[in-house]
Amino acid sequence: MGSYDRELAAGIEAVRAAARVCRAVARTLVTADTLEKKDASPVTVADFASQAVVCQRLERAFPADPVVGEEDAHELRGPAAALRATVVRAVAAEVGGDPGISPVLSWIDRGRAHADGARYWTLDPIDGTKGFLRGDQYAVALALIEDGEVVVGLLACPNLPDGASGRGALFSAVRGEGARRLALWDPMDAAGRPIEVAHPASVADARFCESVESAHSDQDHSAKIAALLGIHAEPYRIDSQCKYAAVAEGDASIYLRLPTRPDYREKIWDHAAGKLVVEAAGGRVTDVDGAELAFRHGRTLAANRGVVATCGGVIHQRVLEAITQARGS
Ligand code: AMP
Ligand code: MG
Repeated sequence: MGSYDRELAAGIEAVRAAARVCRAVARTLVTADTLEKKDASPVTVADFASQAVVCQRLERAFPADPVVGEEDAHELRGPAAALRATVVRAVAAEVGGDPGISPVLSWIDRGRAHADGARYWTLDPIDGTKGFLRGDQYAVALALIEDGEVVVGLLACPNLPDGASGRGALFSAVRGEGARRLALWDPMDAAGRPIEVAHPASVADARFCESVESAHSDQDHSAKIAALLGIHAEPYRIDSQCKYAAVAEGDASIYLRLPTRPDYREKIWDHAAGKLVVEAAGGRVTDVDGAELAFRHGRTLAANRGVVATCGGVIHQRVLEAITQARGS
């Protein structure tokens, strides 16, 4: 028996439910028309509905636990009647029956807690909203934090390849207990299989990944760092915390997230789950200065700049050195 078995089971159920909601919204609301118009309304619906079902499940399992989510229901309490009705329908399809507007809004607002207690969950109901709209990668990311440490991390990745032709993977990690890949859509798969980071022979053989969106990570800077490390392969560009999953299971060995603006502070829900999945798989995660990510400064990683996640060991050191070297040049 592990020390967080109940949290793990409830968290897995919650992100599976959220992933089903996101997939249903993607199938019904993302159309050629919304794509062409760059209409972001489907992701707005899925974001709210995903947060509602995760918070509903966590409320049932751990009524005293605060949730720090990316969304709140403020926008839905205003005159946005059509959006509100669509969100309630998306939630109803997952929870069954007609839950009513008020419970759905209060589930979403359960995610408004402050990130200052000894124990709280943090949720990104859809990480990688741009990927979701393109039909590419996105993730539902949920983590449990105790005394500033991530102790449970879950990433539901509905579009990540699974097997020969399938899609959908769930990554789970418990601090000190390893990381695993489960089948996302099979509720009977409780344990999945263990995963481990890659062990490239040298840093030059390491594949690196980064954001698709150049506004989220400085791609020119990462190209310079890759060149300094002797890496010639093209970067693997993929949205969301699927980057952490890629490092954790050896599909890539380095994830660079280099600040594009000096004043940007990373959000805790964009990193908590992914960081633990990589560390539990044997990797290492720090900021660009080599400092540990500190989940004790509220909703942002206020004490950190950027993120570097790797397969660990000498490779992590070499990447940090190259970042320092690039700064000086
Ligand atoms: P990704 O899919 O890895 O590109 O990251 C998506 C996340 O980037 C979103 O959830 C945002 O919270 C976050 N984000 C938004 N603006 C920035 C920025 N300027 N720098 C870094 N991350 C950002
Ligand atoms: Mg996000």
